[in-house]
Parts: sequence; C-alpha cells; structure tokens
Amino acid sequence: MVVYKFGGASVRSAEGVRNLKTIVAGTTDDTFVVVSAMGKTTNALEEVVSAFVSHDKTGAMAALGRCVDYHYDICRGLFDEGIPRAAKALFDELGVLVGAADGREAEYDYWYDRIVSFGELISTTIVAEYLAREGLDPRWLDIRRIFITDDRHRDADIDITASTPLLKKAVAECDGTGRKIFVSQGFIGGTANGETTTLGREGSDYSAAVAANILDAGSLTIWKDVAGILNADPKFFTGTRLIPELTYLDAIELAYSGAQIIHPKTVKPLQNKRIPLYVKPFADPSGSGSAITAETTERVSVPVLILKKRQVLVSVRPHDFSFVLEEKLPGIFGLMHKFHIRMNMIQSSAVNLSLCVDEGRMLERFSDRLRAEGFRVVQNSGLELLTIRGYDQETFTRHSSCRGIYLIQKTRRTARILRTQTPDSDCLEV
Ligand code: ASP
Ligand code: MG
Repeated sequence: MVVYKFGGASVRSAEGVRNLKTIVAGTTDDTFVVVSAMGKTTNALEEVVSAFVSHDKTGAMAALGRCVDYHYDICRGLFDEGIPRAAKALFDELGVLVGAADGREAEYDYWYDRIVSFGELISTTIVAEYLAREGLDPRWLDIRRIFITDDRHRDADIDITASTPLLKKAVAECDGTGRKIFVSQGFIGGTANGETTTLGREGSDYSAAVAANILDAGSLTIWKDVAGILNADPKFFTGTRLIPELTYLDAIELAYSGAQIIHPKTVKPLQNKRIPLYVKPFADPSGSGSAITAETTERVSVPVLILKKRQVLVSVRPHDFSFVLEEKLPGIFGLMHKFHIRMNMIQSSAVNLSLCVDEGRMLERFSDRLRAEGFRVVQNSGLELLTIRGYDQETFTRHSSCRGIYLIQKTRRTARILRTQTPDSDCLEV
C-alpha cells in the first residue's frame, strides 16, 4: 500500500482532477488517496462560518452559493451527465445546516468544524465519482468515523490507537482480488461521540501521514504545485533551489519555522515507522521531487529561508514591575494555548516578555485578558519573521541590514529576523 496526498491546488480544476486520475492510474500498488478541499474552498467556507456565527444568514448563503457554483463548474468539466448525485446531496445537506441552525460566536470552533469539513467531503466525493467513471473502482471512506480525535475543535489530534482498528477494518472490508484504491478526506476527523472535528489548516498532510502509519505504507507521496521542497518559497523569493534529500529532523525544523511545504504534525507518524515521504510535482509526475527519510547521503548544503508574514510582536510587562516574570510564564502560556495563539519566537528580560505570534482573531481577547490580569501589553503588527537555517554571513547580512528590524536571534546554525513586512508584490533574493 502506498499513500498519496493531493492538496487543494492540485484539485482546483477539472484538469487537476483528471491529472490526479492519471497519477493514480500510473501505479499498480494498492493506493490510499487523501484529498484536500478543492482550490480555496476552505477559505470560502470560513467566510460562510463567519457570516453564520454573526447571524448574517444572507451573507452565509451568498458565500455558500459561490462555493456551490465553483464546484459545479468543475463537475461540468468532468461529467457529461451532470452533477454527481452524491455531491449534490452534500451541498443540500450543507445548505439546510447553514439555513436552519443559528450559530453563536461562542461556538465558533464547533460550527467551523461542522461547516468547513464539507470542503473535503465534497472534493473526495467528486474525485471518487470521477475515478469510478474512469474504471478505477475506488472505495470512498468517511474518515469522520475512522479517525477518532479529541474534541479540541479546529485543532484536533488523531488518537492513533483508537483509529488503528477502524482504518484496518475499513480497508480489510474491501473485497476483490485486484488492485485496491481508497479515497478519503484529509483535514477532518470525528470524536468518539460522532462530532466532526478538523485538524488545523493544511492538516491533510497530517491525515495522510497517520493513514500511512496505520497501514504500514511503503511510502507517502505528497503531490504539490512545486518541484519538491525548495530552499525558499518561490512566491516570495527568486533564485530558489530544490533540496533533493532531507532528514525527518530537517523537515520538522522547516515545518515548525513556518515553511508552507508540509504541516508540522506530518513528520512524527512517518518517522515512528520510518516511512519515506516524497514531495513531488503534480504537474510532472516523473520529476524527482524531494525525499524525506531517516538518513540522507548529503546534508542540506544551501541556506534555507522561511518567511512567515502577518506576524505581531506582543510585549508583555507586569504593571507592578515585579521582577518575577518566571512565575507568570505558565499563566501566560496557558492563555496562549487556550486562545489558539501560535508562538513563533520568544525573548524575555527581567520584566519584559516579547512574543512573536501569528496575527489572528483571538489576539485581542488574549491581550485583554492579560491586561485584566495586571500586565501592560503593547502590540506591533505588520511584521514578518524570516528564519534562515544554515545561514552564511552573506545571506544573513543581506536580510538583516534593511530598516525596520524589531528582533534578531541567532544560534550557530539558525538566524531569525523579525522585521517590517515586505509588500506582497516584492520578490526577495535568496
Ligand atoms: N483544506 C484544508 C486547508 O486548506 C486542509 C488542507 O488543505 O490540508 O487548510
Ligand atoms: Mg492545502
């Protein structure tokens, strides 16, 4: 068994779905296919949720309508006979949900999971229908009943022990002697009580890694719209280079620094069973891509640049000037966890704590709570965090001698620079 994961960009059009079919048809192994929501569907459904929890039913239905149109367009490009009945049924179900229930802002995470999960349910339904039409005989699995998660909505973790017998059973139940193909959803799961959960944005990689772990897969391949793992994101940088081989450790470090290439939780389930991970170009299936394994023949030889935009520097100081910041740290970190605030860099002095975090809707509530607990809180926003792994002096100087530097941290191998955000239209030199 091999596991293939296709992200939103690879299935954003009818042509993408046809290409997926060509890739799946191009191997003879039993294949477990994990698919994300199509294109920017998750963002579109997030708009539905925002409108829904603010009682803007018209806005919610309009956003949903755009999402339906987008998918129906793809279906028209794939099926002469019209929209597959199963896809239509899911949109109808979602329409009823959004039209009838009355969400509250306080239940945002719960409603998020119920609504946004339809992105993956619908994409996999369309993909499975298309593969079936092309004679590949796939089995569609509802992963909400297989991947058992905790109930931390919007950021759930899969309980691998509880999920193992369920996935093994679902796969074993597939009869027939020929090649087996399964199609299932990334990014979503369900609690033991049957409530739908999601695993965090870009979580489909993690789903695929867990499936690979449970099924003792020979490999996991993530099909992407880039040549493989590059030393910087070509959206922001010129002069990028392919990294042909990385270790699990390299990959984890990259992912945690914010490289958009794979979700940070992806590596552990693979590393535990030494399952190789390939990142390959969707548009050129025979391209070499990158291989992530336990040991590589060569170390990564170029500096790797990871740019995280939309950062905020939060400076926290106790009002009473108490020089016992250490005592307050557990409380502050506990609040960050509670409000889903992701910390990317931290620096502390006797009375001051500087936190570099992602911009986000909960940041104000977090800051207000700290103020209520006697801290002075100052926020600087509109920043970006550049991490350079394996930096050389030249690369470091090029990126740290600009204006608007807020914070620099350096170890022997890694430099991190927090600075004013580069306009999205600008391309930087690696
Ligand atoms: N569709 C989800 C997202 O866009 C999950 C994924 O793509 O991995 O975040
Ligand atoms: Mg994606």
